[in-house]
Amino acid sequence: SNLVIAIDGPAGAGKSTVAKMLADKLNNIYIDTGAMYRALTLKALDLKSNLDSSQELSKLAKNTEIKFKKVHGEDRILLDGKDVSKEIRSKEVTNNVSLVAKVPAVRRQLVKLQRKMAQNQGVVMDGRDIGTVVLPDADIKIFLTATVEERTQRRYDELKSKGKDVNFEDLKSEISRRDKLDRERKVAPLKMAEDAIELDSTILTIKEVIKRILKFCQE
Ligand code: C5P
Repeated sequence: SNLVIAIDGPAGAGKSTVAKMLADKLNNIYIDTGAMYRALTLKALDLKSNLDSSQELSKLAKNTEIKFKKVHGEDRILLDGKDVSKEIRSKEVTNNVSLVAKVPAVRRQLVKLQRKMAQNQGVVMDGRDIGTVVLPDADIKIFLTATVEERTQRRYDELKSKGKDVNFEDLKSEISRRDKLDRERKVAPLKMAEDAIELDSTILTIKEVIKRILKFCQE
């Protein structure tokens, strides 16, 4: 379809699962904006950039190429031409990404790129500020939530299934910390757009969430 769909919400609410399934169903492209902030964070960490220097991070953002590419039907992210889809999910990146994402000039750069990627085509984009900042004219805006316990449990199960050694309480405090930073930052904080529809995935299954969004698409 040529619908423009924005999905925002806190970490672990199920945004990317929902966004990917929707994009498949609607034959739209999917853009994971969190992956873009993560990719830039990975580069900053690799280069040992000063994460407290807005200037350094802003310069880095200007000199970085971020692209998405479908490989065997899966979305991969390329950082300066290199596939970093796996690396951007590391704990180190996760724990530092909010520092990079709070820099205004970094956001300006990535928002510009996100808008360009969404130009002239149907898209499902997920993040924190899609409905409020990146695509304020989106046809459908969803704010996907879930309790912090539920979100922690999902992340816990996911990591466990990958054979990782994880602690529930540690994970919960990491998720809460990231939420707080995302909600309280000055630029483009995580918040629901006025015209967004809130769906709570604590009480709805992913299937039900998709069903509801598809219904909005037909209206
Ligand atoms: O969605 P994900 O958890 O991968 O996003 C990683 C981080 O990137 C978030 O915690 C947030 O700090 C930042 N982010 C953002 N704006 C977006 C998407 C992600 O600030 N649109």
